[in-house]
Amino acid sequence: MSLPNLTSQYATTFPELVRPATPAPTPDPKLVVLNRQLAIELGLDADWLTTDEGINFLLGHTLPETTAAVAQGYSGHQFGNYVPVLGDGRAILTGELTVNDELIDIHLKGTGPTPYSRPGSDGYAALGPMLREYLISEAVHALGIPTTRALAVITTGKTIQRETKHPAAVLVRTGPSHIRVGTFQYARAHNDLELLTRLTNYSLARHYPNLQPENTGLGLLTQAVHQQAELIADWMHAGMIHGVMNTDNMTIAGHSIDFGPVAFLDVFDPHAVFSSIDYMGRYAYGNQPVIAEWNLARFAEAMLPVIMHPHDEQVMTQDEAVTAATEAVMTFRTTYSEAWGERFRTRLGLSAEDDAASLGTQLLENLRITSMDYTSFFAELANVASSGLIPANVAPELMAWYKSWLELNPDAQAVAEHNPVYVPRNHLVEAAIEEAVTHENLETFNRLFDAVTDPYIRRNELVDLERPASLAFAQTYQTF
Ligand code: AMP
Ligand code: MG
Ligand code: MG
Repeated sequence: MSLPNLTSQYATTFPELVRPATPAPTPDPKLVVLNRQLAIELGLDADWLTTDEGINFLLGHTLPETTAAVAQGYSGHQFGNYVPVLGDGRAILTGELTVNDELIDIHLKGTGPTPYSRPGSDGYAALGPMLREYLISEAVHALGIPTTRALAVITTGKTIQRETKHPAAVLVRTGPSHIRVGTFQYARAHNDLELLTRLTNYSLARHYPNLQPENTGLGLLTQAVHQQAELIADWMHAGMIHGVMNTDNMTIAGHSIDFGPVAFLDVFDPHAVFSSIDYMGRYAYGNQPVIAEWNLARFAEAMLPVIMHPHDEQVMTQDEAVTAATEAVMTFRTTYSEAWGERFRTRLGLSAEDDAASLGTQLLENLRITSMDYTSFFAELANVASSGLIPANVAPELMAWYKSWLELNPDAQAVAEHNPVYVPRNHLVEAAIEEAVTHENLETFNRLFDAVTDPYIRRNELVDLERPASLAFAQTYQTF
C-alpha cells in the first residue's frame, strides 16, 4: 500500500501557532495494540499498519513529502493559573486524513522533545499511561460520548525514568482537531486580530460548517458552549471524572481529550476526586459543570476582539461585546440542565410528559445516601423495569423511588439500551495495565477492552467485569 494521503492544512494555515517537530528515533518499535475497527473507519489498511512500513507511518517517521509534522502551540489555565506558553511538549500532529469530507487529525503522544518541551521534561511517555488512554478513550467512544480515539500504542524500545524505569511508548490518536480553548488563548496573546479572526473562521468552517452567523466570534463561542454543555452532561451520566479540566484540555469541537488522570465513579459521590495532583478537589466529579463554564468564560475573554470586530470594522463596543459574550456563556446552564434531564429521560425509559429531571435528582440523592455502586445500580434497572420486581433488601429511600419510577411504566428496552453494564472501572483498568506492562501479557487488557467497547450487552462469561471494587480500593484509589 502507498502512504495514506495526509495533509498539513492546520500547519500551513497557522504558521504562527505551530513549530516544526520531528519524532525522536525509535530503536526497536513494537506494535502493542492496533485498533483495527478504527483503522477501517479511517480508510486505512489495518494489515499494512502492522508492517514495518505501516509502523513507520504511524510513528511519523515516514510521511508523504508534502506533509510537515508540527507541535501545536497553546496556552492554558492549569488548575486556575494562567500559563502563557504550554504547547505540545510531548506530542506532534503528523497531519490530517480526509474521511467523509471531514479532516481527522493524526496526533502522536510520547514522540520525544519538541520546541515546546519545558526544561526538565523529556517529551516521552510510559507504556502504562498510553495504554490507559487507549482503553479509556475507546470506552468513552463506545458510550456514545464525543472523544479523541485511539488507533495504536507502540513501544519504542527506549526506557524512560520516572520514579522507576518504564518502557516508553507512543499513542497514536485521532480527533476532529486539536484546537483547544488554550489555542485561542495563545492566539489572543499574539495581539494580532487577523490571526485570531483566521483561527475563528477556520474553527467555524471545520467544526460547524452549517453555521453562517452574522458575528463569527459570537457564533463560534455559542456553538462551543452548546457542545461543551452536551459533553459534560455525557460525562456526568457516565460517572466520568476527567481529572484535569485545564483550558488546554478543552476542545472547541466539544469532544473529550487528554484523559491523564481520568477515573470512573464507584459509589455516587459529588466530591469524588481521584487525581493525586488535585489537592483542592477543583476537578471533583460534581464540579465539572461549573469548571466547564469557567473555562468557557476564559474562551469568551480570548475571543472578545473578534466579537467586537466580526468583519474587520468595529461593530460592537467592548461593553456590548462583553455583554453578548457573557450571555453566550450563560446559555451553558440551561443547555446543560436540559441535556442532563433528557439523558435521564432516556436511561430511565420515560416519555416526554414525565418529569425525568426531578426523578433523576431524587435518585442521585438516594444513591449518595445509600452508597450504591453507580454503574451497577443503573445496569440493574432494565431487569427491574421488565419484571416489575424491586430488588430485595433495598433501603427505604430507594424503595420509595423504585415505586414512583415503576408507576410511570418505564420502557425496559430503552433502559437496557442506555445503561452500560461495562465501564472501565478503576480497579479493572489498573489490573489490566499492570499485567500488560509488568508481564507483557495483554489477555486481561484485551478482555476488558472488548467488554467496555461493547458496553450495553451483558455477557455471562464477563460477570467478573461487572463487580465493583472493594471499598478499600475505591477509598484509596489515586490516578497520576
Ligand atoms: P497534559 O497534562 O498531558 O495535558 O500536559 C500538560 C502540558 O505538559 C502539555 O504542554 C504537555 O505537552 C506537557 N507535558 C506533559 N508531560 C510531558 C513530558 N513528559 N515531556 C514534555 N512535556 C510534557
Ligand atoms: Mg474559512
Ligand atoms: Mg493536555
